[in-house]
Amino acid sequence: MRIGIFGGTFNPIHYGHLRAAEEARERLNLDKILFIPSGNPPLKTEGLTDAKHRYEMVRLAVAQNHFFDISDIECRRPEKSYSMDTLEELKCIYPDTAFFFILGIDSFLDIPNWWQPERLIELTNFVVISRPSFNFFDLLSSPYLSIDKSILKKLDDGALDLYTTKLSSGKAVTFLRHTPIGISATEIRSFVREGKSIKYLLPAVVESYIISNKLYKS
Ligand code: ATP
Repeated sequence: MRIGIFGGTFNPIHYGHLRAAEEARERLNLDKILFIPSGNPPLKTEGLTDAKHRYEMVRLAVAQNHFFDISDIECRRPEKSYSMDTLEELKCIYPDTAFFFILGIDSFLDIPNWWQPERLIELTNFVVISRPSFNFFDLLSSPYLSIDKSILKKLDDGALDLYTTKLSSGKAVTFLRHTPIGISATEIRSFVREGKSIKYLLPAVVESYIISNKLYKS
């Protein structure tokens, strides 16, 4: 089995996340995508909504896609959510499974600041997805990659939309250029705070959940 792991704060989940996951699933031939909302993230703490709300919004958003699933592996842990611990636990739950850790260019570049990064990159394959305002070319500074500049440039220019190589750990990393959707959770939170509409930026069920639970008002 090939499982895509898509972690994040999902504060809230929106169509940028959902479409990227769907394209990663299709292009990499993944059997399913497991969305893992972080419970108590060590780095992104500002303006963070309670994990129970973020979990519920992801649950509602993925319910209509039978290739999508949600895991409470991080939300049910009271301690800090470290991707390394999550991956180790998933490996026990799903033996004989190849994992593909899906994340945006910005998040991949942040890995050196995570808990036990060297160990993490030995545990799983990665799928680095494009994200508006971020360039594949910036990945040249990643300590885990040794890649030709021209490949990254082709990905940014659109001459190439998928490229797989090896990380320094020997695991595979795939760069995927997908349909750009320039929506950000930060922007959605400000829209709500300013009383603006968030319609069509995220699934209607998530919009209703935000309104009825009065999230992001202050
Ligand atoms: P915030 O604005 O709250 O910082 P975020 O979307 O950057 O939100 P997460 O919810 O943790 O934060 O993101 C989960 C993953 O989705 C990250 O790897 C991020 O790079 C990626 N991502 C977020 N928005 C998009 C988008 N519009 N297109 C592609 N990838 C995205």
